This record gives sequence, C-alpha cells and structure tokens, in this order.
Amino acid sequence: MEDCIFCKIIKGDIPSTKYYEDDLMIVIADIAPKAKKHYLAIPKKHYKSFTDMTDSDAIELGKCIKKVGEIAPSLGLENGFRFVINQGDDGMQTVPHLHMHLLGGQKLDEPNYCK
Ligand code: AMP
Ligand code: ZN
Repeated sequence: MEDCIFCKIIKGDIPSTKYYEDDLMIVIADIAPKAKKHYLAIPKKHYKSFTDMTDSDAIELGKCIKKVGEIAPSLGLENGFRFVINQGDDGMQTVPHLHMHLLGGQKLDEPNYCK
C-alpha cells in the first residue's frame, strides 16, 4: 500500500529503530512509547485487521506470534509483557496495517478501557 506508514517502514522508506526482521515481520520501537518498553511487531503483508485476513494470513500471523514469544527475552521482556492489537474505530486503531503492541519493562497498570 503506497500511503501506508508501516509499509513504508518495512520498505525502509521511513526510518525506524528496528530490533528484529525476518521474511514475515519486523519488530520496531513505537515512536510514542506507552511503557518503558514498547515495541510494534508488524507483519510485512498489508491488511487492516482480523476482518480482512485470509487463511494464509492467519497462518503467517500465528508464526509471527510464536516468534514474538521466542525473541521477547532479547527485547528485555523476559519478565512478561502485554500484547495488544487495536482493531478498528472502537479499538482506536490509528494505523490501518495490522500490528501487535508489546508493552513491558515495568509492571503495567490495569488498563482503563472506559472513559
Ligand atoms: P494503533 O493505534 O494500534 O494503530 O497503533 C499505532 C502505533 O504506531 C502508535 O502507538 C504510534 O505511536 C505508532 N507509530 C506511528 N507512527 C510510527 C512510526 N513512524 N514509527 C514507530 N511507531 C509509530
Ligand atoms: Zn501497510
């Protein structure tokens, strides 16, 4: 997708602090961290949300999630982390390219979902 910020990061057209890359995903630092450690694990394939996934996207996302578990200690998340995927308007998704937030490096407060 030409105007997708995460596709541009994946292509290297926009700089990022990259911690991991393989053929299926990249892991970068979130530009506006909400915890001491805040990473984004971004599948390389562009689709907006679970609603838009194909069966093969689902298999690839499963592999990405398994890899997140494997590399978490090397990201300083060996003590645990919160795994968040925001979906659509009510989920307050701001970038329409499916991605996973990994938050940790500290004890996290219980989220206050209702404003
Ligand atoms: P979401 O609200 O779930 O769509 O999350 C989008 C996330 O992308 C937010 O936490 C932003 O801080 C983050 N973000 C936006 N632009 C960039 C960027 N250029 N590099 C790294 N993170 C970004
Ligand atoms: Zn994209």
